[in-house]
Amino acid sequence: GKSQFSFFNVDLQRQAEQTLSLEEELRNAVVNKEFRLVFQPIISFKSGQAEKFEALLRWDHPTKGEQSPGAFIDVAEMTGLIVPIGYWVVEAALDFIDRQFDSGQAVRPVAINISARQLRDELFAKHVEELLRSRNIDPEFIELEITESLLMEDVALAIKLINRLRELGTRISIDDFGTGYSSLSQLKQFPVNTLKIDRSFVMDLESDESDCQIIEAITVMVHKLDIEVVAEGIETENQLNFLKHIGCDYGQGFFLARPLTEDAALEFSGLQALPGQVDLASL
Ligand code: C2E
Ligand code: MG
Ligand code: MG
Repeated sequence: GKSQFSFFNVDLQRQAEQTLSLEEELRNAVVNKEFRLVFQPIISFKSGQAEKFEALLRWDHPTKGEQSPGAFIDVAEMTGLIVPIGYWVVEAALDFIDRQFDSGQAVRPVAINISARQLRDELFAKHVEELLRSRNIDPEFIELEITESLLMEDVALAIKLINRLRELGTRISIDDFGTGYSSLSQLKQFPVNTLKIDRSFVMDLESDESDCQIIEAITVMVHKLDIEVVAEGIETENQLNFLKHIGCDYGQGFFLARPLTEDAALEFSGLQALPGQVDLASL
């Protein structure tokens, strides 16, 4: 192609073939409705309850079984199939909100992950608006998650696109924060409600003193911008206690709750999800 060359090798060919067959399988999956959502509780450190859920996509592949997004989201994005899949995700998340209403319990907002292609899709905001209106659901019940690295690809464009989504009245959250190298001045420009600290920082909390300080500094700074902080990927009680102690607002992770089926998520909602109150003096 244009002033470029690459060497052909068997690996490249095999990879191309695999991508092609995955694309084909994904097309069938859209038609055959092989997707479903699971819902991971996001626990408030104040109330100890699941005050939000994150919708996470799963693909029940006819022969390979359950597939996580890591196995197919890149190909879905590359081929544009993420657009119909993404619309289905919004509808399925709204179904879950409807079910929460029907259950008579307090309705917890649902966070939905948005990829690059969806964010740039001119029709996405309009489509979401129509869906919310036709189902009479308050836009505040959905929170759109956009990764920090996606925002950083083109900051000016990202601000414009986020503003368009904010006009709908939905909440916006920055996902995987800490992996995309944004600066404080840029953060100030993004009109977001929530910031999710990436799992990679939480993971090393017990062994890496500087990660403790980074998370604490992010939390203090972000609170000054009136943005809520969620810590992702909490896997141990020590991590949980530290994050609570420094004033994070919410926690998400396998230690608190795994992603759940819709039925299990409904049951989980309203339960006390935090283990016994800790003695902060002992930390
Ligand atoms: P994410 O938005 O950062 O979602 C959190 C991921 O971390 C989920 O993986 C979740 O299962 C996993 N996780 C949660 N707690 C823990 C923990 O304590 N330890 C560990 N090791 N992992 C934990 P999952 O479901 O495989 O999703 C991976 C990524 O795929 C998501 O990262 C998100 O970026 C993307 N994704 C998921 N659903 C959708 C979707 O509907 N649309 C789009 N465009 N992307 C999606
Ligand atoms: Mg997310
Ligand atoms: Mg994340």
